[in-house]
Amino acid sequence: MGLEENLPSGVLLTSVEKLVNWTRKSSLWPATFGLACCAIEMMTTGAPRYDLARFGMEVFRASPRQADLMIVAGRVSNKMAPVLRQIYDQMPEPRWVLAMGVCASSGGMFNNYAIVQGVDHVVPVDMYLPGCPPRPEMLMDAILKIHAKIMDEPLGAKRATELAESGYKTPMIPSSVKYAPKAKKTAPKSADTIEATS
Ligand code: SF4
Repeated sequence: MGLEENLPSGVLLTSVEKLVNWTRKSSLWPATFGLACCAIEMMTTGAPRYDLARFGMEVFRASPRQADLMIVAGRVSNKMAPVLRQIYDQMPEPRWVLAMGVCASSGGMFNNYAIVQGVDHVVPVDMYLPGCPPRPEMLMDAILKIHAKIMDEPLGAKRATELAESGYKTPMIPSSVKYAPKAKKTAPKSADTIEATS
């Protein structure tokens, strides 16, 4: 479906905020960053079967300077925490963090001195994804929810104040509901058809 089919008259009205947020969410580039077993699921999500490329994010960047999404895939050891923070600090603003799996979110079953009990002790987290490990579909669902959050990012301090005063929060609708195929409407049977079948 091309743009011209959606805009038959060739006119599009929107706000600068929406346009900027649309470009941001349509070109999220994740930093190449895998810490443990969750990273295998993350790699699978980028492979052809799940095809992250359709969301404009097929390129996992080797350099944090070109990345704006950090997917913390796996448990974070105390030794790794300063490295993770350094990579985060090297990413340009605006940037987002997704804690993938129970270990990254809360330490999970590794309740011991070696593992950080939640990556939010090291960097601010935008989205927590449960599961051990979360499946690729779950990761994509979390990414799509980050997209929804990005679309509501205020552009500038004035808009941020307005949004805070309005108390608006992005509805987090599961992708399985939001993008579910619409049920086909079946035509009601006519009286003749009912008679013929009975
Ligand atoms: S959540 Fe499970 S799969 Fe992910 S890093 Fe922890 S133990 Fe591994």
